[in-house]
Amino acid sequence: MRYVSTRGRAPALDFTDVLLVGLAADGGLYVPEAWPALPEGWDEPRPYAELATEVLWPYVEGSALDRPALARLVEEAYATFDHPDVCPLVEIEPGLCVVELFHGPTLAFKDVALQLVGRLFDHELARRGERATIVVATSGDTGSAAIAACVGRPNLDVVVLHPAGRVSEVQRRQMTTVDAPNVHNVAIEGTFDDCQDLLKALFADEDLRRRVGLSAMNSINWARVAAQVVYYVLAAAAAGPCEVAVPTGNFGNILAGWIARRSGAPIERLVIGSNRNDILTRWARTGELVRSEVVPTLSPSMDIQVSSNHERLLFELLGRDPRATAELMERFRAVGSVEAPVDPAFVAASLDDDATLEVIADLYRRTGYLADPHTAVGIGAARACRSDGGRDDLPLVCMATAHPAKFPDAVERATGVRPALPDHLADLHDRPERYEVLPADLDAVRAHVLACAAR
Ligand SMILES: *Cc1c(COP(=O)(O)O)cnc(C)c1O
Repeated sequence: MRYVSTRGRAPALDFTDVLLVGLAADGGLYVPEAWPALPEGWDEPRPYAELATEVLWPYVEGSALDRPALARLVEEAYATFDHPDVCPLVEIEPGLCVVELFHGPTLAFKDVALQLVGRLFDHELARRGERATIVVATSGDTGSAAIAACVGRPNLDVVVLHPAGRVSEVQRRQMTTVDAPNVHNVAIEGTFDDCQDLLKALFADEDLRRRVGLSAMNSINWARVAAQVVYYVLAAAAAGPCEVAVPTGNFGNILAGWIARRSGAPIERLVIGSNRNDILTRWARTGELVRSEVVPTLSPSMDIQVSSNHERLLFELLGRDPRATAELMERFRAVGSVEAPVDPAFVAASLDDDATLEVIADLYRRTGYLADPHTAVGIGAARACRSDGGRDDLPLVCMATAHPAKFPDAVERATGVRPALPDHLADLHDRPERYEVLPADLDAVRAHVLACAAR
């Protein structure tokens, strides 16, 4: 399998090259040259790790990673989950299932991809005799998932910048209580935007990049998208022809659903669930992509206006024309508003915070199930699309992207019940924390990154 850039001006690469390079040199995103069919027997029940190896192999084939190594890394990655099914399908009422993607170490769906991607990075770096320093800026959730992906990996250091005093205590502790020599937490005296600006400046520093092997594991990383295809195949195998709802931010998760569908999984429709940051809902409904200001909501992991993975879908919808894609993306960046093709496979709806709380409350009243605010946006969006004249004969499957205990305040507000952390995190508030505090100053942060990589 070879990968091509959506903007057509970067060399074609194989899986392991695409894994480490992240963004293509022309500013585009790598996509497979052709979409593989689902593996034979995809709809037969089997352990998650086995299905994952089968689904992922066509994407990996032809690279330096051989099949037994892939199978071993997949097996190890999913052994870290606290549920035997890894991503269990749970029926909460007739016709409505959720796929719980939050049984990994940090209680959110990013673990499903990152537990594997951390191991893939480490394995490929070892083969090349290289090391890398992963730098992440986080407003809360991505940092802990990246740390959990890198902790103890011999060829990786991870440096996470979070805004001091501006992440929740649970979020901070999930990062700062990880005690390992290759994990480096930094509280920046500034905002999340300051952290992102520092990150960009670090990546723009050619000398630093080379010296510490600077690298990213962000949501545009192709291997993350590929790892997410697996649970859509699993859902379609269990539910048969169905509609799948996805709480959406950067479009990485739902893109994996589209790929499963493109490869032959019987997913009839994909429902984009947005909070008030609804650029994708407006796109799906009007064909116009119009950027606006980010507003904070109860589902903060979706407080995004420019969805980085959307370019991969637009490339498909433009008939895989890299010039048209580059032109569209550049115009969008310059003016913040473009007409963009749509795909009838997608429907969309957005929920404000009150509507989100109402979905959590209603679901709890009727079924006893506690949904986190992100999951509730997905379920609420699917219901809204049905009452808009959609089909209601298909089973609905919603991707449950976070454990309710990760957002206890919102869940308690809606239901009166404060969800408890699972056993492996029960003593989180008693564990010692370890982090540096630095000013939002490039020289200070740069020196720190150099010191971390030289340890
Ligand atoms: C990251 C995240 C999302 C959004 O997923 P995208 O792939 O960015 O669309 C939704 N819910 C939770 C809990 C997340 O952490």
